[in-house]
Amino acid sequence: MLVGMDVVSMNIKDKVENLKGVGPKTSGLFEKLNINTIDELLRFYPRNYLTYEKTCDIENATAGERVAIKATINTYVDIKKIRKLTLVTCMVKDSTGQVKLVWYNSPFLKQVFHIGQTYIFVGNLTIRNNQYTMEHPEYYTVEQYENMKMTMQPIYPLTMGLSNKTVTKSVKAALPLVDEIEDNIPQSIIDKYSLMPLSSAIKGVHFPENFESMLECRNRLVFDEFFMFLVKMALIREHTVKESNNFVINDFTETDRFISNMPFELTKGQKTAVEDIRKDLAGLTVMNRLIQGDVGSGKTAVAEIAILSTVKNGYQAAFMAPTEVLAKQHYDNLIRDYKDYDVSVELLVGSTKLSEKRRIYEKLLNGDIDVLVGTHALIQDKVVYNNLALVITDEQHRFGVRQREKLSKKGKEPHVLVMSATPIPRTLAIIMYGDLDISIIKDMPANRKPIKNCVVGPKYRPTAYKFMKEQIDEGHQIYIICPMVEASENVEAENVIEYQERLKDYFSPEINITYLHGKMSADEKNEIMENFIEKKIDILISTTVIEVGINNPNATVMMIENAERFGLAQLHQLRGRVGRGDFQSYCIMLCSSDNKDALKRLDILNKSNDGFFIANEDLKLRGPGDFFGVRQSGEMLFMLGDIYNNADILKKASDAVTYLQKESFPLEILSDNNTTVYL
Ligand code: ADP
Ligand code: MG
Repeated sequence: MLVGMDVVSMNIKDKVENLKGVGPKTSGLFEKLNINTIDELLRFYPRNYLTYEKTCDIENATAGERVAIKATINTYVDIKKIRKLTLVTCMVKDSTGQVKLVWYNSPFLKQVFHIGQTYIFVGNLTIRNNQYTMEHPEYYTVEQYENMKMTMQPIYPLTMGLSNKTVTKSVKAALPLVDEIEDNIPQSIIDKYSLMPLSSAIKGVHFPENFESMLECRNRLVFDEFFMFLVKMALIREHTVKESNNFVINDFTETDRFISNMPFELTKGQKTAVEDIRKDLAGLTVMNRLIQGDVGSGKTAVAEIAILSTVKNGYQAAFMAPTEVLAKQHYDNLIRDYKDYDVSVELLVGSTKLSEKRRIYEKLLNGDIDVLVGTHALIQDKVVYNNLALVITDEQHRFGVRQREKLSKKGKEPHVLVMSATPIPRTLAIIMYGDLDISIIKDMPANRKPIKNCVVGPKYRPTAYKFMKEQIDEGHQIYIICPMVEASENVEAENVIEYQERLKDYFSPEINITYLHGKMSADEKNEIMENFIEKKIDILISTTVIEVGINNPNATVMMIENAERFGLAQLHQLRGRVGRGDFQSYCIMLCSSDNKDALKRLDILNKSNDGFFIANEDLKLRGPGDFFGVRQSGEMLFMLGDIYNNADILKKASDAVTYLQKESFPLEILSDNNTTVYL
């Protein structure tokens, strides 16, 4: 074994197990996190920092939060054995109140703590049996704590069996090699923007001296991340944008008939989007367009119109969705809406039977299929089209850039239409989706009544259930969202399985209650969704798998348990599952925490149904340093950067790439294939 090998003779590309103190077990765990080499370890950044904050009086401490109290031990340490468990407890107090401390299986503490001693205790404060309680608090002498107060301890995203301490130790051992890390940013850019050395940035992100220096270091890494992303975008653009139009689509007779027979009048935004698309399809160059519209703005109708135009001019179209459930829904809609238009539509998803897949491949190649709807399955190599002229991706932030690229390479440079509900300001959109023209649908269909919202505590549940009962009696359906699939020891949050049991006890048996979660098979999920859409289910309890795109206009209540656990963007998406038809709809956000910040955030959603407004307020509330925790979940997920919070850095990185292009710098030498970016 190479443990103890001299640092000097080590290389940044060596395996992590060459580091002092990293054995095969630890390196195996690192492997699970895709960390094999020393440079990968150094590029494994903390997801947060632990700061040792000021101590507070017990009477001012907030239950549910991590607090530090300076308190004196005022009872003997009590040890109880409950089966295999040793329970160690004692009471501590300051001049304002007292707290019960609890440890498990730590009998040695009896020798540590004595009446009259004062320590700083740090941990989560809870209320048990009407008493402030801290389980497993860390404890420090007053002097120790003084020394630690100013430091920031890195917290890493971990995997089972790998402790934060081990990661910290390993990163420390790797640190002497940090200067060897290759900086991919061209020297001209480093000089132009006075970027700090990469090695200092990495060092300072792992072990910051203080908050400000950490931010500065982090910003350098965010710049790199955005820069590499934009380089990739620029390369894609060079290859795609100016292609000529191989599929001129200019006969809109059937399209017009379709539009005039739709059950509703298109909104102004939808009409403009349709106009934009027509011009593109009939134009000289291939279409590359983003349709951006808030949840419920009616993007699917626009997609249907574009697809019909394509098919009626003799070409094929592909319609790709991020989940099987959503793909199935689109498929059902197309079958229904194209009933009188003689269009052959098929569905291809991962769970499609092999024999069925073969049949589809064959028909597709022969040109016997006009529209193929599906998931990623649509872009596998096996799938060969006859004359694919239009590719639409729905909720497209879920797809990686590379997937999009792959899709547009199917066939002979087809037209590309991407649809997204991500509320991103136009200035940022132009940078992020630089290769796309943008149509924005600003207005909602006229029949919509704004969703009525409320943010409530757990005490409100019975009232909420009563209200649901009334809605069900009126023939409507309900969504309830829980953060968890099943009960967990570590997380105190509602889970769908137990929740169903509880609801079944509450409601009478003729009310049909079912749950849905991501661990179910695709077939199961599809069946449940189908039953829900066919109104066979009254209450659907689900995890966030439901968040993307699902449309059931008959559902009028969305209740979100543990709303405090979700990001605002995600809550907005979830809420978008109701209020999709003529009926008044309601969103009940149940907050199980009395944390003031959580309530403040939820209040933004309470006040507004406008995705742009929400994104903006969220940003203001978070402030420049507040990038942990509340991520724009699932959307354009960079490892460190956040396009909202770091908009200025994004702009800078964009300038840098433009500058290099002007200087005719060969961007392709910068593009490595191992950074995954999502768009
Ligand atoms: P999203 O933009 O979130 O994808 P959808 O396309 O699923 O929204 O549309 C939501 C609902 O609104 C659907 O039931 C659809 O039939 C309906 N809808 C779309 N456009 C209009 C319109 N112009 N007037 C009335 N209802 C519409
Ligand atoms: Mg949609």
